[in-house]
Amino acid sequence: MDVDTPAEELASALGVDKQEVKEDLESLLQYSVPLEEAKQSIRRKHGGGEGGGDAAQPESVALNEIAPGQNNVTVSVRVLTVGTRTIQYQGEEQTIHEGRFGDETGTISYTAWQDFGFEAGDSLIVGNAGVREWEGNPELNLGSSTSVAMAEEPVETAAEIGGDSDLIELSPGDRGRNIEVQIQEVETRTIDGRNGETEILSGVVADETARLPFTDWDPHPEIDAGASCRIEDVYVREYRGSPSINVSEFSTVTPLAESVAVTDDAPQLSLAEAVDSGGLFDVEVVANVLEVRDGSGLIERCPECGRAIQNDQCRVHGTVDGEDDLRIKAILDDGTATVTAIIGSELTEKIYGGDVTDAKEAARDAMDKEVVAETIREELVGDSYRVRGSLSIDEYGANLTVEDFAADDTDPAARAKAVLAEVHG
Ligand SMILES: [Zn+2]
Repeated sequence: MDVDTPAEELASALGVDKQEVKEDLESLLQYSVPLEEAKQSIRRKHGGGEGGGDAAQPESVALNEIAPGQNNVTVSVRVLTVGTRTIQYQGEEQTIHEGRFGDETGTISYTAWQDFGFEAGDSLIVGNAGVREWEGNPELNLGSSTSVAMAEEPVETAAEIGGDSDLIELSPGDRGRNIEVQIQEVETRTIDGRNGETEILSGVVADETARLPFTDWDPHPEIDAGASCRIEDVYVREYRGSPSINVSEFSTVTPLAESVAVTDDAPQLSLAEAVDSGGLFDVEVVANVLEVRDGSGLIERCPECGRAIQNDQCRVHGTVDGEDDLRIKAILDDGTATVTAIIGSELTEKIYGGDVTDAKEAARDAMDKEVVAETIREELVGDSYRVRGSLSIDEYGANLTVEDFAADDTDPAARAKAVLAEVHG
């Protein structure tokens, strides 16, 4: 750590020798005393007392002027959202409060390491808040040296107060949000959690704007398949490139008397738009099958983990007794971008026109497994399809896990064929 700068500032504020201050600072820091605390104790030694020489109340900084790298700031803000969750911090479970503040100039995320007791809608003067950087953006850190007081006048903001959100508005990093949704799918899973084996719920929720996956880390009985609920204080994380809703012990779930209307349609995007979005839980694209890749058709999977394997070798489980399965990995292209569509066994059976037993028979007859992939290739390549599924993007590229796969009836060639078939019917 560079102690020259703080030592010089402190020495000139206290009017004492810089070298002496620097040596004191260095020895305190060596004993892992935090910098702020070290500075305080040096001020006390020289009779500077708490807060040092700058007794005047610091001026509030506008939120759009806060940048990573600033030290401690005072802000006048409106509380937009308050979320609560526990995290593991230095081996201890700690409850933190997070959300967004707003003022006339913008909004900013904050994390409060203790409960200051403020709520959405409150107008506050927050003194001595730390500034840290999170994914390139500044965030406020409210700790034990931060002061929080109610402002005398309401702080104006153009941002929406309270966390009520449509699913389509949510993005990873959101905290303290409230949603009204229908539970479309839910299952109980046992996981190895922080405190041993725990039961959690996972599934899919929907409203009129979108469908999203969710996890309830502290199962709420009201979260039941088909039920409509208002869920307050959820946070959003990224799961395989798309937003995922997290319900916790701090969330409240209230059943709704009226059923929440849900969308049946996935947003339809070009492949370029879908890829640019960074991942989507539910999307529909219309594209041509350019190629059916190796690893399609009759494949083997590890019975332990389900990974596709070759020659009975799983890269995690070593030598295993592989299980036969059907799948397709197809390259989709719509002229704007390409993605790899992963089609599971059920849909592959339909496309292939037979199940695993049929495929094995065909492979035995031809003495070549590849005949299955070849049949699929002849069926798919060159035609246009309407494909719905979940798009995830990672370092290996863009993969669309397919839920629905159908011939594109808006494809001019297909339509022409259909019309001709009718004419000649
Ligand atoms: Zn395995």
